Amino acid sequence: PLSIRGLRKSFGDNEVLRGIDLHIPAGQFVAVVGKSGCGKSTLLRLIAGLERIDAGSISFGGEIQPEDIRVMFQEPRLLPWARVLANVEVGLGRDRASGDAHARAEKALAEVGLADKREQWPSVLSGGQKQRVALARALVSRPRVLAFDEPLGALDALTRISMQRLLERVWRDQGFTAILVTHDVAEAVALADRVLVIEEGRIAHDVVVNAARPRQRGSAELAGLEGSI
Ligand code: ATP
Ligand code: MG
Repeated sequence: PLSIRGLRKSFGDNEVLRGIDLHIPAGQFVAVVGKSGCGKSTLLRLIAGLERIDAGSISFGGEIQPEDIRVMFQEPRLLPWARVLANVEVGLGRDRASGDAHARAEKALAEVGLADKREQWPSVLSGGQKQRVALARALVSRPRVLAFDEPLGALDALTRISMQRLLERVWRDQGFTAILVTHDVAEAVALADRVLVIEEGRIAHDVVVNAARPRQRGSAELAGLEGSI
């Protein structure tokens, strides 16, 4: 579980987060929406430990270490001088040197449907394919928490739909806690268990959605659709 209490963050005299209280059970899929500049990315960066908190606390119940949290951004941020498989291996951190690094990276690439691109350079991939590589890089270390900051924001509508299905499938298969920041309320409602709306530095609305959806593992019918776009 992720517990946030009284979280505050300012930049100079700009009070961005003014007391965020939030409990996210392990395995939940939470979407965060709100107007541009309301502090969504700031909240994710604080959760991911990329930024220092001013006040309050963020705890993961002891069982989650910093390396169990991964973030995926709108830009894939691939290394241009490394082939696709090597880019995925970057996500293993220190485990890159271990004997099974290649095998783990290959498995993660297969999970996002790009096994056949392993020897390509990032520059020849489409935008959607680059985001899949970024997703494989995030998944390869089997994170407990995956935070997404507008990961689909730069994609065209069709690619976006196929990526939404992919995100949902890997979340179902792997059971990580997902925190998705998005401008797209329809996307939030389609994917998440719960939608948080940030206003004036606080969680103004906390809405349960999709409470009745099945949570079975594996969904081959969706995998087929992803590949078609
Ligand atoms: P968007 O939907 O446009 O991505 P957001 O909700 O993610 O917006 P944040 O990026 O979290 O918003 O920014 C919240 C506020 O904090 C903004 O006013 C922004 O200018 C400010 N801010 C964010 N990071 C910094 C920083 N490193 N230094 C100064 N101000 C910052
Ligand atoms: Mg943002």
